[in-house]
Amino acid sequence: MVNISPFVHLVLIAFCLVPVNSLPDIIRIGGLFHNGDIDQELAFRYAVEKINLDKTILPRSKLSAQIERVSSDEDSFHASKRVCHLLRQGVSSIFGPSSNSISRHVQSICDTMEIPHLEMRWDYRIRRENCLVNLYPHPSVLSRALYDIVEFWGWKHFTIIYESNDSLLRLQELLKAQRRTEYPTTIRQLPDTNDYRPLLKQIKNSGVAHIVLACSTEKIYNVLKQSQQIGMMSDYHSYLITSLDLQTIDLDEFKYSGTNITAFRLVDPDNYNVRKTVAEWSQLELRSDKKPNERAFQRNDTVIKSETALIYDAVHLFAKALHDLDTSQQIDIQPLSCDGQDTWPHGYSLINYMKIVEMKGLTNLIKFDNQGFRTDFLLDIIELSANGIRKVGDWNSTQGVNFTRSFKEQQQDMVDNLKNKTLVVTALLSDPYVMRKDSAAKLTGNNQFEGYAIDLIREISMILGFNFTFRLVPDGRYGSINKLTGEWDGMVRELLEQRADLAIGDLTITYEREQVVDFTMPFMNLGISVLYRKPVKQPPNLFSFLSPLSLDVWIYMATAYLGVSVLLFILARFTPYEWSNSQHPEKSDTQFTLMNCMWFAIGSLMQQGCDFLPKAVSTRMVAGMWWFFTLIMISSYTANLAAFLTVERMDSPIESAEDLAKQTKIKYGVLNGGSTASFFRNSNFSTYQRMWSFMESSKPSVFAQSNTEGVERTTKGKGSYAFLMESTSIEYVIERNCELTQIGGMLDSKGYGIAMRQNSPYRTMMNSAVLKLQEEGRLHILKTRWWKEKRGGGSCRDDTSKSSSTANELGLANVGGVFVVLMGGMGVACVIAVCEFVWKSRKVATEERVIQMQCY
Ligand code: ASP
Repeated sequence: MVNISPFVHLVLIAFCLVPVNSLPDIIRIGGLFHNGDIDQELAFRYAVEKINLDKTILPRSKLSAQIERVSSDEDSFHASKRVCHLLRQGVSSIFGPSSNSISRHVQSICDTMEIPHLEMRWDYRIRRENCLVNLYPHPSVLSRALYDIVEFWGWKHFTIIYESNDSLLRLQELLKAQRRTEYPTTIRQLPDTNDYRPLLKQIKNSGVAHIVLACSTEKIYNVLKQSQQIGMMSDYHSYLITSLDLQTIDLDEFKYSGTNITAFRLVDPDNYNVRKTVAEWSQLELRSDKKPNERAFQRNDTVIKSETALIYDAVHLFAKALHDLDTSQQIDIQPLSCDGQDTWPHGYSLINYMKIVEMKGLTNLIKFDNQGFRTDFLLDIIELSANGIRKVGDWNSTQGVNFTRSFKEQQQDMVDNLKNKTLVVTALLSDPYVMRKDSAAKLTGNNQFEGYAIDLIREISMILGFNFTFRLVPDGRYGSINKLTGEWDGMVRELLEQRADLAIGDLTITYEREQVVDFTMPFMNLGISVLYRKPVKQPPNLFSFLSPLSLDVWIYMATAYLGVSVLLFILARFTPYEWSNSQHPEKSDTQFTLMNCMWFAIGSLMQQGCDFLPKAVSTRMVAGMWWFFTLIMISSYTANLAAFLTVERMDSPIESAEDLAKQTKIKYGVLNGGSTASFFRNSNFSTYQRMWSFMESSKPSVFAQSNTEGVERTTKGKGSYAFLMESTSIEYVIERNCELTQIGGMLDSKGYGIAMRQNSPYRTMMNSAVLKLQEEGRLHILKTRWWKEKRGGGSCRDDTSKSSSTANELGLANVGGVFVVLMGGMGVACVIAVCEFVWKSRKVATEERVIQMQCY
C-alpha cells in the first residue's frame, strides 16, 4: 500500500478543485485599425458582440475589443508603442493592421511575445512568422486563378496594367505561363499622376482588346472611367480585374458599354449568411454614435470589402480555436510588457489550433494548410452586366474555372447588349451589292445607298435589333496586305483600325483575311470565272456540205470507193459465174469492166443503182457490203448535214481560262487589290502563275480599279480584253450587258461573308441571323430581286431565247457549194465528152486508113 503524506493530499485536493476550464471572464483582444477603416473596426466590434451573444462559443467568458487607431503615415515606432499598450492591457491576440510596413513591425513584436497575430491583408511572402495567421488567400493561389481564367478564355494577346511592384506579384503565374507561349504580353505601369489617358491611348492604338488590370480597388473606377473617355470601353474590350473587391465600386456608368469586366470575389453578398450578418451589422452601426458619413454599410446594402469580411471571420476563428484549446488546457491571460522577458505560453498552441480549425465564415470555408495558408477556398467569378454585377461562375484550386452560365444565356446577354446599339458598317460601291440610289432629291445617310448588301444588313439588323450607319471605305478597296509593310488596306483596314464594326458587300472570305478579322458564314457562294465578249456568228461556208464529215473520212471514203471498184473488177474476172458463157470462156464476156465496176460503186454510193448487177456470190458479197457501208455513211452524213446547216456556228477564240493562258493576243486582267488578284498571285498552279506573270508584265496595266472599270474595258475591247471576275458579279453583268458572257467554268470556289473585328462578340449572333435568312429563303429572294429584277435585270434573256427557238432557214450561202459541185461536174462531163469524141474520131480515122491500105 502506498503511503501518501498529508501535504501531497492537500495539493491533490487543491488541484482537483481548480476547474480545467479556467479562461478569465473577460478576454481582451486587440485591434489595430487605420483611422479611416470604419468598416473594419465596425466588423471587429460586431464580431465580438456576436460571439458574446453566442452561447456555444466561450460560454463562460466575454470578449472585449481593445481598439487602437493608427494613421497610415505613422512610423513603426509609434505603432509598436500602441501594440505594447495593447499587450499591457492583457490582450490575447492582435488583429490588423492592414498597412504593410506597420504590420511587419507588429508581427515581430507578437512573435517575440508569442501572442497570436491575425491578419487579413494581401501578403506575398512565402514564409510567415510562427505567430501569424493570415486569412487573406496567398497571392500565388490568386494568380493561379487569374491564369486559369485567361487560359479558359484563350486570350493570346493582352496587356497587363499594373500599379506597383506589389500588384505585379499578383500576376506571377500569368507572367510565368505567358513566357512559355509565343504570344507577347505587354506590361505597362500606371503613372503616378491621376491622368492615365496617354497610357491608355497607347494601349488602344496597339489594338489590344484584352486587359488585365492590377491596381488598388480605389483606382479601378478612375482607370475604367478614363478608358471609357478614350473609347476603350466597347463591346470588343475585356477587362480582368485582380482586385477581390470589384463589387464595392459603383460601376453603373459602364453597365451598358458592353465591355466585359470580370473579377473574382471572396464574399458573396447574396449569400444568406452574409446578408443576415451585414443587416445586423448595420443595426449595430445605427445604434452606435457614428456620424452619418461614417455609416459604411448603409451605402450599399450587403456589399462589403473582403478585408472587412475577413476581420469578422478572423475573430470567429480566434474564438473557435480558443474555445477548443480551452477544453484541453488551462489558459490564463496576463498583461505583458514589451520591456520584460515574459511571453504568453499558450500563444503557439492557440495558433496551432487556429490552423486546424475548419469553419464556415463570410468568406466561405476557412481552412489552412500545414504552412498556414488558406486552402480549399472558393472564389466567385463576377461580371458586370446591364443589371449590375452578377456571379457567372466560380473557381477553386482543385477544379479551376467553372462557368455556371450556359452558352444560351451568354448569347442572350450579347443579343440584349446589341439591342439599340449603332454599328458602323463599312462598304464600297460595287453593283449590285452597294449602289447609290437614283434620286432627284438630295439623299443623306443610309438613304443614299441601296443594293443586295444594304438589304441584307437591314434584315440582319431587324433580327438582332441594332441600328447601323453606312460609311464608304475611303480608298475604295476590299482589303489586301502589303507584304513589305505588313499593312492592310480597304475595308479590312477599317476594321483593324476600329473605325468600323462590320464590313459588308462582295467581300470574299480568304485565309489571309481570316487571320486578322472574323467572318460570318458565307451568305453567297461563287468562284472566279472569265468575262468576255459573246462569240460572234460565223459566216456560212460555201462548201459547208462537206462539213458533216471530216477530211480524213472523205479521203477514206474515196479510197474505199476505188478499192471496192478494183476488187469487184478482179473478183468478176476471177469468178466463172460472171462470164456470160461459162462453157466457153474464150468466147464469153463479162460486164464488169473496170469502168463498169467504178460506175456500179458510184451508183450505189449515190443511192441510184445500176442496170447491171453481180451474179456470183463473191461479187454479190462485195456489192452487199458496199451497199451496207453506203447506207450507214449516207445516213450519218444526212443526219449530220441537217445539224450543220441549221445550227448557227459561233466563233469564240477562247473557251476557258486555260485558253487565255495559252495565247497572248487577248489581254486579260483582274481587279486590283482584291481576292481574285491574290488568288493568281499566290497560286501554285502553273497555268495561273503564268497568267499572273502575264498580267503583271502587261503594258498598259491590265488591272482594273473596280469591277465596273473591268466590265467597261471588256465591252469596249471588242474581244481584245477579258476580265477575270467573280461569277456572281459576272452573272449580274451578263443579265444586263448582252454583248458579254461568261467563258468556261469556275477556277475556284469560295464565298462572301460579313467581316468584323477579330474576336468580335457579334460573330455568333450574325452567323445565326445569316443562317436564319438563308433557311427562310430571304437570301434567295434578295438575290433574285437584285440580279434579275431591279436595274434592268433580264434584258438579255429575250435575246438568247429568240436565237435558240427559231430555226434558221438555209440560204444560198449554206448550200451554194452543192451547186458549184454540180456545175463543176457538168463541166467535167462536157470536157470528157469532147475528149471521147476526139478519141473516137481518131480511132475511126485510123481504122478506116488500115482498111483502105488492106484494100489496096
Ligand atoms: N470580292 C473580291 C474581294 O473581296 C473582289 C475581287 O477580287 O474580285 O477582294
